[in-house]
Amino acid sequence: MSKDATPHQIAHVQALLRQSGLDPVIGEFEGATLVITENEAPGAAGVLETATGVERVVDGQGAQQLTSRDFRSADSRVAVGGPDGAVLGGDGFVVIAGPCAVESQDQMTGVVDAVVAAGAAMLRGGAFKPRTSPYSFQGLGVAGLALLAEQRSRTGLPVVTEVVTPQDVERVAEESDMLQIGTRNMQNFALLREAGASGRPVLLKRGMAATIEEWLLAAEYLMHMGNGGVVLCERGIRSFDRSTRFTLDLSAVAEAKRRTHLPVVVDPSHSTGRPHLVGPMSLAAAACGADGLLIDVHTDARAALCDGAQALSGAQFADVMTRLRPVVEAVGRTLWQPRARSLTSV
Ligand code: PEP
Ligand code: MN
Repeated sequence: MSKDATPHQIAHVQALLRQSGLDPVIGEFEGATLVITENEAPGAAGVLETATGVERVVDGQGAQQLTSRDFRSADSRVAVGGPDGAVLGGDGFVVIAGPCAVESQDQMTGVVDAVVAAGAAMLRGGAFKPRTSPYSFQGLGVAGLALLAEQRSRTGLPVVTEVVTPQDVERVAEESDMLQIGTRNMQNFALLREAGASGRPVLLKRGMAATIEEWLLAAEYLMHMGNGGVVLCERGIRSFDRSTRFTLDLSAVAEAKRRTHLPVVVDPSHSTGRPHLVGPMSLAAAACGADGLLIDVHTDARAALCDGAQALSGAQFADVMTRLRPVVEAVGRTLWQPRARSLTSV
């Protein structure tokens, strides 16, 4: 619908689709309303095109539609955390940092102080952890969400955290600014549908064995449920080489950006699994057109309950931020500066 379409005009379009036996879903994308249907309505396009308030009817040909550059040629922007939050996909390069897992209030305060001092634009931290082994730390769950929310109010920075089951989506959406769908769940279609319907922006990680096509179709599920706030995250794919934890596919960043209008960020921590590679890959990601980074930081990596082997210390993170700035500026971007930043005690 056009941006100035009235509720009445939107309701009229929904009614027209229902008359054709369809069950339309309403979504929001860049300030305009999307009316989405599961199937095509033979002959409906002509009727819809002439309805007042309709800007465009996108024909249901081809698997990738809403996420495609054919749907929107310009880069889309995803705002996270309201007017004082961060915008991904615009001129600003957004660095998201924090521990792999939320462990305790002290741990969170220490890590958050370090990343905020170094200029992070958003915070990360897993409360629900999808661990390969059932014997590994599974995350603090709901208690972890509360600790994360505490850091959000303390700093004013938006937070992203992973959701692993459809039943938890509502709760995680209430207590965070952005939902993360992890590599192991990229094709969990029930989870994608629920996250898509949540109204919260979603950070969609690439499946470790997923093609770019499959990744974009997973993003299509989210947009198809009316979610206009989708951000892709390249986090490495499986290869034969065990020298790094995964193989960071930076060509996928440029290719995804060619095919879609969605912002793309890079996770140099999970992809490489090695702190000394996080800096070089962060700079390379910025150089090849990524819109931001997702970096694991821990102030006591040896004691970390999850993925300590890949975490940067606060000082290492600050060093990466310093080296990142000229690269970001060389490609015509600026490091995103948080607007509201305070550091109250907990
Ligand atoms: C994470 O970011 O905490 C995580 C588990 O990442 P991935 O899904 O990419 O393994
Ligand atoms: Mn991790």
